Parts: sequence; structure tokens; C-alpha cells
Amino acid sequence: MELRHQVIVIGGGPAGLNAAKYAANAGCNVALLDSAPRLGGQYWRHTGIESDDQSRHHNFDQGSLLMDAIIANPRITIYPNTTIWSASVINGEVVLRYKDGAFITSRLILATGAYDRSLPFPGWDIPGVMTAGAAQSLLKGSGVIAGKRIVVAGSGPFLLPVAAGLSSHGGKVVGLIEAAGKFAWLPEILSLLQNPAKISEGLGYLLTLRKAKVEMRFKQAVISAHADSDGLLESITVANIDAEFHITSTYSINCDVAAIGWGFTPDTSMAGALGLKEEVAADGSVVVAVDENQRASSAHSELHIFAAGEITGIGGSALSLAEGAIAGLAAADSRTNLRDLKKIRRKARRFALTLQRVYPIALGWKSWLTPETIICRCEEVTHAAIQSAFTELDADDARSAKLMTRCGMGMCQGRICSRNVADLLDSPDADRIKGVYRPIISPITLGELAQDGLL
Ligand SMILES: Cc1cc2nc3c(=O)[nH]c(=O)nc-3n(C[C@H](O)[C@H](O)[C@H](O)COP(=O)(O)OP(=O)(O)OC[C@H]3O[C@@H](n4cnc5c(N)ncnc54)[C@H](O)[C@@H]3O)c2cc1C
Repeated sequence: MELRHQVIVIGGGPAGLNAAKYAANAGCNVALLDSAPRLGGQYWRHTGIESDDQSRHHNFDQGSLLMDAIIANPRITIYPNTTIWSASVINGEVVLRYKDGAFITSRLILATGAYDRSLPFPGWDIPGVMTAGAAQSLLKGSGVIAGKRIVVAGSGPFLLPVAAGLSSHGGKVVGLIEAAGKFAWLPEILSLLQNPAKISEGLGYLLTLRKAKVEMRFKQAVISAHADSDGLLESITVANIDAEFHITSTYSINCDVAAIGWGFTPDTSMAGALGLKEEVAADGSVVVAVDENQRASSAHSELHIFAAGEITGIGGSALSLAEGAIAGLAAADSRTNLRDLKKIRRKARRFALTLQRVYPIALGWKSWLTPETIICRCEEVTHAAIQSAFTELDADDARSAKLMTRCGMGMCQGRICSRNVADLLDSPDADRIKGVYRPIISPITLGELAQDGLL
């Protein structure tokens, strides 16, 4: 089946929702696609049960209004449970394949968001060690508390809603371990004062954590995890670390879940498949390069391809909303309110850069690894295997390391490990960009390929 739409938006998170709304309000017929069964993306991931959703989100009202407006808009067709696995340009149009056929358009808005950034350490593959986002998704999307004794760790403001959400819904959070210093915000206090909504959001989480007696520890990190006789997580080793993330001393904590998040990595797979220009941002992540109107740079200048939200840089939901709105207007060739939206985007981008300065991820994490530490969990490739490919086989970039060791060749196609491998190999920017190229955007079975006539 081939479906044509004037504007297609991929991603039903804050960026994609606003992009669809603004493009439709400017007169376009819009298709909004998402692989999830419900709109909302990561930020407004929800159970669909109103009382649950209200209590598990910081500002579900805003999301709810936006999602309701989109569902009621006759110009917007929503395609849930629709995963795009390939994107290409054929005869001057973008062709997006999903399991039942293809969507075709010449005006595309990519808003595919981000996924958790993980750092490897000995034992990070033990059941019970998960990302902070996974713990959050279980709570928000299914109402499940990930474990009985939970440690939330890593770095960044996202750890606060995760720990606060778990503890206010009956989870026992036995520690919140933050790699940044307690007073890391002090040099950036002006930027914080310019964003009073962020102050009140942060204070709300801190109050919840205080009520639940969750201990917060700073300049510390989880550096190894240990399993019990059943192979499940039993304890973690926590280190006091310096500014470079080098270990100064250690102690251990018993827990059955360690929810660890080191921020997010943009999911630019679709942009890469379409050959859009990508670049390495200040925080080291590969992002889609966009102009003032969120338009991406493509060799096919006849196409109008835009990118919005976390695929253009990690910055939170407010920035995603602003970028989505601008992309939606630009896709519809409208300029209504553009100036005000750009002002909002500027402010949100400034705040995103502040966050990156307050919560830097230093490369000293590499010193936590042992030769046996798994770097690619899908293919079980160890640190020693990557090092020996580098020293003995000249594999000095992520792609060569992949060919020599199979790291990044598994189910996740390097989403988790490619950034870490690039750090281990001290790869230059061009190699980091090549390292995230995935012609197959999401896993597909041979049967589905055959059904599509592609085999
Ligand atoms: C697991 C996780 C949990 C998070 N929880 C929070 C939180 O509680 N609070 C907070 O402030 N921030 C949270 N964040 C950060 C949050 O993602 C952003 O601030 C915000 O949601 C980004 O909006 P976005 O529209 O750019 O992307 P997202 O909200 O990530 O939306 C992207 C959408 O694109 C869809 N998509 C991606 N690829 C495809 C494809 N191939 N085919 C079809 N659809 C596709 C995804 O299903 C997703 O719904 C979380 C991030 C992650 C990764």
C-alpha cells in the first residue's frame, strides 16, 4: 500500500506534535506517524488512564491539550504503531517504508527524538542494571516500579524526575548518585534565574525526594555491578570521582535495580539514511544540521526536509516544542508568529547549553573498564577485543572496529555502543558521523522484506 501526504511528520513526541499542529493550522494535510501505540513521545509517554497520567507527569495538562487538539484536527491523520524501517529518495520524492507498505511525500519533518546514553562498566549487562529512561518508561507507560531497592545514578537533571517519580509511587530509592558537584549550578546561576519554570520544577522534585528521605550523593558514579547466585543484580560499587571522572575511593550499596542515565543520544538514523547533513554538537553527540527554519541540508534541493526536537541536539521538551512549531510553519510555507517562536527557541537553546556545562561527561569513565568489560552488549564484544583490533589490526575508527570485532552489528545496530567505541578510539568527528549510519532504521524480518517485494 502506498500512502501520499502533503506533509509527513515522523515522531509523536513534543517536537512532532507541535510540527503537525502548526503545519495543519497553516492549511496543510498532515500525516503524523509514530511507532508507539499512543502519541506523546518520551516526555508524555502515558498509560492512557487519566488519573495515572496526571500523577506521573510534571505537566501532563500541556501534553494532554496538545494531543487532544491533534486528534480532533481533521487535517491530521494519525498513524500509531507505524515504524519506518527505511527512508530513501526515489524520483524526487521521499519514500518511507513500514511493514505494510510505503508513505510518500516531498515535505517531511523528522522528529525522531533521542534514546538514553549509557556508559559501559563491569557488570552493566547484569539483569537489574537498566537506563534511567527505561525505569521512567516503565513507570509512566505501564505503571510499573522497576524494583524493590533502586539506585538512580548517572548525571543530569533527568535523574531528578526519575527518582522523584519512583519514590512518590511507592518505590524505595536507596540513593541518587550524581556525577556532577553539589554546587555545579553556581557559575550558571544567572541562566537558571532566567528560567523560573525550571527552578520550580527542580524544587518540586527535590521536595519529593526530601519527603521520601532519598539520599543524594554528588561527585560519585556507579563503576561496577555484581550479581547474586541467580545472576541478578545484588550490589553495585560506587566511586567518589574527580572532575575528569577518575576514581578516588569506592564503597558498595545493595540494590536490585540500578537505573543509570548519562543524558541522551539523538536518534539520527533516518536522517543518515536520507543523506542529510549531520554534525557533532558541543556535547559530542551526532545531530542533524538545520538552518534558521529547521530545514535540513539535503543533496536533493527540490525536497523540503526539516528536523526538530532532540535529533537536532539534546535540549528538553520546551526546545523540542519550539523547534517543532517552527518546522511545521516552515513546511507549510507560513511565517505566522515565526519571530516569537524563534525567540522562545533561542532562550531554550541557551538553557540547553547551560545544562551541558553543568553536567559534562568526562572521558575518565574509560578508566572504569577492565579488559573483560563488555562494550557491545548485543554481540558481547569486550574492551580487550576492541583494543586489540586497534593495536594489532589498525582498526582506528568505529567502522573498522565494527568489521573486525562485530561491535555494533547486533540488534541495536550500535545505538548503545557506537558513541562509546568512538570515545575509546578517540575518533574524529567525521568518523563519529559515519559510525551512526544505518541503512536499515529499525529491525525487520526477512518475511516482511519478502512481502514488500524487496527480496
Ligand atoms: C526513555 C526516555 C524517557 C524520557 N523521559 C523524560 C521525562 O520523563 N521527562 C523529561 O523532561 N524528559 C524525558 N526524556 C527526554 C525527552 O525525550 C525530551 O525532552 C523530549 O521528549 C524530546 O522530544 P522529541 O519530540 O524530540 O522526541 P521524543 O519525545 O523522543 O519523540 C520521538 C518519537 O519518534 C518516534 N520514532 C522514532 N523513530 C521512529 C521510527 N523509525 N518510526 C516511527 N516512529 C519513530 C518515537 O516512537 C517517539 O515517540 C526522556 C527521554 C528518553 C529517551
